[in-house]
Amino acid sequence: MTRVGVLALQGDVREHLAALRAVGAEAIPVRRRAELEAVDGLVIPGGESTAMSHLLRVFELAEPLRQRLADGLPAYGSCAGMILLATEIVDAGAPGRQAVPLGAIDMTVRRNAFGRQVDSFEGDLDFVGLDDPVHAVFIRAPWVERVGPEVQVLATAAGHPVAVRQGAVLATAFHPEVTGDRRIHRLFVDAL
Ligand code: GLN
Repeated sequence: MTRVGVLALQGDVREHLAALRAVGAEAIPVRRRAELEAVDGLVIPGGESTAMSHLLRVFELAEPLRQRLADGLPAYGSCAGMILLATEIVDAGAPGRQAVPLGAIDMTVRRNAFGRQVDSFEGDLDFVGLDDPVHAVFIRAPWVERVGPEVQVLATAAGHPVAVRQGAVLATAFHPEVTGDRRIHRLFVDAL
């Protein structure tokens, strides 16, 4: 069985573990380097990208994770996870507490992009490769401002990419793990 890790430093870890198990993967929380080395793919959950960056350093996981991603580890990031998978982050947070990009998808992501009025919202989005629209839940979500030539845009909202793929790395600005729609987790796991 494919073993998929969920980075378990902060954020909606349980929801991702449940979604991965529902699509037939063995899902384990990842907090240590040995756990990171033992997985065939990794989910970086929604949560707070600045807090997760801080904890990646505290747990001495930032460099091992950056290295595994550089070596081609398949990954899926939702929301805060999308931010961390980028090569560049706009509005990364207060100096000294910034979200740090891991560089797995050649893109520039803006944190908290949708602004206060629409802090959190939901909508149905067409998603490349899925027959029916995805009901997307955005919670203080980022959007993508630039994509490199290797990046495929899978969905857009407000004129910006909100779901992208580069090779084996997938990212969404929204949270399929909270809706019960397992199609995006299935896309990720089936490609492993
Ligand atoms: N705004 C959060 C961040 O900057 C992301 C929100 C989320 O993951 N729901 O990390």
